[in-house]
Formats: sequence, C-alpha cells, structure tokens
Amino acid sequence: MKPAPFAYKKTRSLEEAVALLGEHSGKSLDARLLAGGQSLIATLNMRLSAPSLLIDINGIAGLDGIANKGGTVEIGALVRHAQAERSETIARHAPLIARAMPHIGHAAIRNRGTLGGSIAFADPAAELPACLMALDGEVDATGPKGKRTIKAGDFFKGLFETALGPQDVLTAIRVPAATAETRVGFAELARRHGDYAIIGLAASARADGKGLADVRLSFFGVGSTPVCARKAEAALSGGAIDDKRLAAAIAALDLDPHDDVQATAALKKHLAGVLLRRVAKQLLEART
Ligand SMILES: Cc1cc2nc3c(=O)[nH]c(=O)nc-3n(C[C@H](O)[C@H](O)[C@H](O)COP(=O)(O)OP(=O)(O)OC[C@H]3O[C@@H](n4cnc5c(N)ncnc54)[C@H](O)[C@@H]3O)c2cc1C
Repeated sequence: MKPAPFAYKKTRSLEEAVALLGEHSGKSLDARLLAGGQSLIATLNMRLSAPSLLIDINGIAGLDGIANKGGTVEIGALVRHAQAERSETIARHAPLIARAMPHIGHAAIRNRGTLGGSIAFADPAAELPACLMALDGEVDATGPKGKRTIKAGDFFKGLFETALGPQDVLTAIRVPAATAETRVGFAELARRHGDYAIIGLAASARADGKGLADVRLSFFGVGSTPVCARKAEAALSGGAIDDKRLAAAIAALDLDPHDDVQATAALKKHLAGVLLRRVAKQLLEART
C-alpha cells in the first residue's frame, strides 16, 4: 500500500519544530515528527495514520550526542540505534542499553531508527522503553512552554501513549552511569532474531555482598507499557541468590499479560519465569 498524500517540511531548529506542531496539532491538519521513519513510515504505508504534514527533525543540530556527564549518561534523541550499538560510552557506562541494542530489528533498521523515536513511539514490545524503566532514567522534552524533564516512571502512560504533549519534541534520554557495583541483565524471546519480542526482560541491580540490592525488573511484551515486577524485585533483593530465593522470585512474578498475536497469556507467564532465571544469572556476574 502507499501512504495517503502528505506535505513534508525539513526543519533545522527545535523552536521551528515546536511552532509547526502548534500550527497543526489538534486540527484536521495533523502533523507528525519524522525521525528515523522506521515505525512512522510503516504506519503511513499501512494507512494506520494519515498525517497531513511530516516535520523532519533530522536536520536539527545537537540532538545526536552521547556523553557521560558527571555520572549520568545523556543520549540525544537523534542518536541512531547503530551509533549507540558502536558507542564506547554506552558500552562502558550504560551496559544495559549496550546489551539491548543488537536485539532491535535488523541492521538496516538500526542504521536509521533513533533512540528518541523508539522512546517516543513507546511500543510495548520494544527494548529501549523497558531499559529506560529498568535504569530509572528520564526523558527531556521541549514544548511551547520550554524544556521539561519527565521520569521514566511517569513517561509511559498506555499503549503507544506517553507523557509527551502534541507539541513536544523529545530531545534526550538520561540514565545513571554504571558504577563498579552496577549489575545488569537482558534477555528476550523472539520467533526470529530481529522480530519484536514475544516477551523480554531488562534488569538492573546493585551488588551487595553475595546478593543484590535495588533490583529493577522491567518486562516488555506483557502489557500496554513496560511492566516492573515489584514483588519479584523485592524477593530477589537482599541476601545471597540461591535456588530457593530464585524460585520465590519467580513465584512472586506479578504480571498480567494478555493473549496477543505472538503467544497466549499463559505462555507469556511461563516465559517470564524462564527469562527471570536467565537474567538473575547475568545480574550475579561481576562487571568486566
Ligand atoms: C521490520 C522492523 C522491525 C523492528 N523491530 C524492532 C524491534 O525489535 N524492537 C524495537 O524496539 N523496534 C523495532 N523496530 C522499530 C525501530 O526501532 C524504530 O526505529 C523505532 O521504533 C522508532 O524510531 P524512529 O527514529 O524510526 O522513529 P519514527 O518512525 O520516525 O517515529 C516514530 C514515532 O515517534 C515520533 N517521534 C520520533 N522522534 C520523536 C521525537 N524526538 N520527539 C517526539 N516524537 C518523536 C514520531 O512522530 C512517530 O510518531 C522495528 C521496525 C521495523 C520496520
């Protein structure tokens, strides 16, 4: 299928992007930001959306940096998945994101898709929103009233729904830089490598003696947003992780997935336990 006709405007400034969204949002003339286009163009081609204007933000300078700023890793919205995958800074200071990157689509998709686009699109089966939740990160957005920061826990509101307003441009994401005590784990199950996951788990924790503290388990593909399994997090925290503690954490998994095109709810619940077992093992490995 071909998309419905639309106008195209390439903008070179954040202010202009916000102004253009203001002129068009909420009216019959609907506008959408275009970043990597790897999700947006597919929805246009399938006629799932038919905006009258695409505002191309790829020419806005300063949104493609990756930096460790005093213990916080900041990643610009226009950083491509492939750029993040190759980044030394992300490998060293945001190892959970580094582990997740190769699972996002295929190389061609990662060459164009952006981190900002993935977070803004908020697909419930996507890797990066779950990583942002597991790392307790935050998002910067600029809108008509200026810049604001939104905590990951307040950002993902529902199915493809975020705290971004119709005139907001996501400009960066931030996550705490890993320390020597940081432990991360990532696993997903997909029918073929590169497909959206049936279910996945992004996790972080702090090494604490022989056990773990501050465990954060963020599942994806099990609800309308990334889902943190709070009871299982508590069950894994404190004390050494032996088979008994792991079994208790799996039993405590408080997930309520629905059947979808990929798997039944019952299968997803079973697979959540399988992933938790794999990821718990990773969380116990010391950083190299
Ligand atoms: C075959 C295929 C397989 C894929 N597999 C996966 C996968 O396994 N895991 C995964 O996570 N993703 C997958 N993707 C999606 C890919 O990761 C996309 O790149 C990503 O979801 C969107 O990023 P984008 O830059 O392409 O955004 P676009 O497609 O340009 O935009 C997506 C949406 O976000 C909005 N948007 C974009 N940037 C901003 C911004 N800065 N501020 C506010 N709103 C913004 C757009 O207006 C649009 O509504 C797949 C895509 C394809 C085609």
